[in-house]
Amino acid sequence: MQFFTIASGSSGNAYFLELAGQHFLIDAGVSGKRIEHALQKKNIRGLNGIFITHEHNDHIAGAGVIARRFKTEIYATPLTWRYFLRHKKLGALNEEQIKIIEPDKPLLIGGAEVTAFDIPHDASQPVGYSFRAVTNESEKMVIATDLGHATESVKERLKNARVLLIESNHDPEMLERGRYQRELKTRVAGNRGHLSNAQAGMLLAEVVIPGKTHVFLAHLSEENNTPMLAFDTVARILDGNNITVGRLEVAERNIPGEPVVC
Ligand SMILES: [Zn+2]
Ligand SMILES: [Zn+2]
Repeated sequence: MQFFTIASGSSGNAYFLELAGQHFLIDAGVSGKRIEHALQKKNIRGLNGIFITHEHNDHIAGAGVIARRFKTEIYATPLTWRYFLRHKKLGALNEEQIKIIEPDKPLLIGGAEVTAFDIPHDASQPVGYSFRAVTNESEKMVIATDLGHATESVKERLKNARVLLIESNHDPEMLERGRYQRELKTRVAGNRGHLSNAQAGMLLAEVVIPGKTHVFLAHLSEENNTPMLAFDTVARILDGNNITVGRLEVAERNIPGEPVVC
């Protein structure tokens, strides 16, 4: 399994996962050019699918371009696809490139099993994704960003991941003091908005494999957070709960990160 981040944050999200010989892109929220460049640099020439979490622009900006360039499929939930097609969001695609994935119904692609799961966020039908190698239980990667809070079913999905990427969006005090309009502040902090640093820390304390899980804190707000604040807040909560993780790092906003191989 190999995983690396291409871009992460409110300004654009894209992640790459190689699992059981399959190459997946998870979200494509920066330009096609940037994604292609990042893949080229790591010698990745083909894709076996693009998995979209939801329709917000910071997750889809380059999706159509990449699907056409790599002649690959785009997977999204039924209501997300309905939104894309209604609003002609992704440009021209062949019918075979339009793939529906239903939450909680595992999909097999080669030796990789992919399961979408519902997350609470203000979009049509937002999901996180769990990827697992069929022949090796320990090869499991889970991604969950853009969620207002962690439900019990989300927590179950995040457990036993070797690599876990979760949102650590904002610091509530920075958000409160910041220059966002009141309405937007309420939305971000709300139940269907985004996870705060402390919420991410408390969630991680419940779901990581002690000493093993490689954790990425992702989708940081540029306005209402800093990488150091996110890291320190989460690290402090994990310490306070006597939890160690394999590694804790903050996903880079604008440059591809180093691959994790495990
Ligand atoms: Zn969103
Ligand atoms: Zn987002």
